[in-house]
Amino acid sequence: MISAVLFDLDETLLDRTRSLVAFLGDQHRRFGDRLGRAPFAAWRDHFLTLDARGHVDKSVVYPAILSDFGGDQGAADALLADYRKRCCRYAKAFPGMADTLRTLRARGLRLGVVTNGETEFQMRHVDALGLRDLVDCVLVSQAEGLRKPEADLFLRAVARLAAEPGQCLFVGDNPVVDVLGAHAAGLRTAWFGREATWPRDLPPVPGAIIDTLPQVLDLVAGHEP
Ligand SMILES: [Mg+2]
Repeated sequence: MISAVLFDLDETLLDRTRSLVAFLGDQHRRFGDRLGRAPFAAWRDHFLTLDARGHVDKSVVYPAILSDFGGDQGAADALLADYRKRCCRYAKAFPGMADTLRTLRARGLRLGVVTNGETEFQMRHVDALGLRDLVDCVLVSQAEGLRKPEADLFLRAVARLAAEPGQCLFVGDNPVVDVLGAHAAGLRTAWFGREATWPRDLPPVPGAIIDTLPQVLDLVAGHEP
């Protein structure tokens, strides 16, 4: 039986790259003359490289990119504050997110989100995607004092949903932090791999592989409470 489904946020429910690129276009227009001699495409591509899929803090990214393009270093703090406040306005979900979550709930499953990051920033994105009304709990690493792949964070989320680890499916894009982390904590897993390749230096994929969110419905079909 599967009684609960937990989701990662960035690059799983939230199409983070598409959202970030949309925000960067707006920010580049508004701060244009302070960013040095960088056309938007070059700024965007270099930002994404420095950002490393969100793993590098933007307090590091902005000074670095301003330095690389000869921009005004005095703008770094304003750019960072602007990012924290306005990035969520461009939040876009992956196709089928809301319908998938509503259907899972209608089938009797409890739902949650487990994300690493700053609480205020992540919760702005949770709100922007309408997730407060679609899931039963949201755990952000900063607020919880635990980070994925720590097993205690997965187990805390499972407990919030009054489930057992083996009855809970975790869906995420990161092979180590999400999939192997949840697997080690005793949860079932689905890797939201999309076009990525599972890293060769890791143990084999422990669970399912999906390319779209609605495929979660197929994974739980026949296993509902
Ligand atoms: Mg992610």
